[in-house]
Amino acid sequence: MSENRPSIAVVGGGFAGVGAVVMLRRAGYDDVTVFERGERVGGVWHHNTYPGAACDVPSHLYEFSFEPNPRWSRRYAPQEEIQAYLEDVARRNGVLDRIRTSTEVLSAAWHEERAKWVLQTTAGEHEADVLLTACGQLSVPSVPPLPGLDDFEGPAFHTATWRHDVDLTGKRVAVIGTGCSAIQVVPAIQPKVQSVTVYQRSPGWTIPKMDYAYSERAQRLFERFPVLQRLDRALVFGFMEVGAAGMTNRRWLLVPFRAMARWNISRAIKDPELRAKVTPADEVGCKRVMLTDEWYPTLTKPNVELVTDPVVQITPAGVRTADGTERAADVIIHATGFRTHGFVAPMEITGATGQTLAQAWAGVPRAYLGMSVPGFPNMFLLYGPNTNGGTGSVIYTIEANVNHVVVALRELERARARRIEVDAARAEAYDRELRAALAGTVWHTGCTSWYVDADGNDPNQWPWLWSTYRKRAERIEPGVYELSA
Ligand code: NAP
Repeated sequence: MSENRPSIAVVGGGFAGVGAVVMLRRAGYDDVTVFERGERVGGVWHHNTYPGAACDVPSHLYEFSFEPNPRWSRRYAPQEEIQAYLEDVARRNGVLDRIRTSTEVLSAAWHEERAKWVLQTTAGEHEADVLLTACGQLSVPSVPPLPGLDDFEGPAFHTATWRHDVDLTGKRVAVIGTGCSAIQVVPAIQPKVQSVTVYQRSPGWTIPKMDYAYSERAQRLFERFPVLQRLDRALVFGFMEVGAAGMTNRRWLLVPFRAMARWNISRAIKDPELRAKVTPADEVGCKRVMLTDEWYPTLTKPNVELVTDPVVQITPAGVRTADGTERAADVIIHATGFRTHGFVAPMEITGATGQTLAQAWAGVPRAYLGMSVPGFPNMFLLYGPNTNGGTGSVIYTIEANVNHVVVALRELERARARRIEVDAARAEAYDRELRAALAGTVWHTGCTSWYVDADGNDPNQWPWLWSTYRKRAERIEPGVYELSA
């Protein structure tokens, strides 16, 4: 540790990695190196380039609070604009000098005597005093292991690894899955394909998106009077907090959301059979609520079929469902989500006791405030376990995470220590409090979602308000961390 200022290694160059460098540098921590396996910064926004990809959080909340952009073209920015924003923030804040792209971190191990993290990367070894993981929760695509997957004779790909070389014009396309990615892809490709068959396992609730373009005049107003943008951000945040309260401990607040969701279906679909197919049986918010004005109208188009019989096999020529029907397809698109419970996987992290993080977690990732794990000193997870919300902006969470890290690093400096580790009993008490609160949330009312695993474990969700997370994360309670030389 040079002059008490630690060297910091960050794994991942998405919003969390870029935000961490900017915030750490502004706090005086300049010795930061970011490793990014992609060829540029961006994370999910770099990788998810499928047609129709856009954010479903209003742009004035889906941006760094310290880098407001008055020039968003729409209320909900499209993927390429978010990617350009992040690259611009990175360029203007000296992040690009600190990032090693096309470099994957394979493993990281804590060296107790030297109090260092030793990283093995595809470009060699690297050492740092502090390790921050910024790997995201939705970065590893998941394709269900359906029988016959490799037998399909046409192109088949996941939404997050979109094949831009495959022209869908006039093709028969099968889309498996009806989550946030599918509801954007299908309306975007429907006008150009011959037909699209959508395979739905279980429907999710949606509410109207009401997207619109910001006029030049509106953009100039936001530029001239930043307070207007801050006001809009505060209003959006307040609305999201109402949703968060409804999903966690004030269920009655979901009543208007349920009404909006029902109206979103009834305004677009007149056919009772199709209506029944898309109407979920579960509670609004159990799966992530999706925002769309296009999904249901698209399902009513003559070249679109919604299939609700379970997919049982991929055949050389298409998709077979449980009733024995085989529907032909030229292209299959897997809109089947991500491996959301691995967090840092496949990277292997070994802590002070020789245990890996995967072993310490034993199937259920957990961390104090989503960031700190006993036995893993000088390591902080950004957007780690139980820091996702049914509403809100992940960027808000990431900022709270980095503020926590900065407070912890200041403690380290103040104590002239080399090592900071969360107290096991405090982490355990926090985990008990968290699990008890999670049990009463809407996410545990019986539905499939990317939050809850088959055994009912929920390593993703934060069961309180977002403002509560920020308040708790931005200060360190006495006794939570042990500092040592
Ligand atoms: P997802 O929400 O996890 O949806 C995956 C879909 O695949 C679900 O419909 C699921 O059905 C289906 N599926 C999974 N395994 C299946 C199987 N074996 N057979 C048939 N269907 C199967 O994934 P996603 O749509 O990629 O979205 C993931 C998250 O990414 C979102 O919740 C959101 O947080 C983020 N995202 C955001 C945006 C945005 O900002 N607009 C866009 C895309 C993604 P079940 O529902 O029955 O499980």
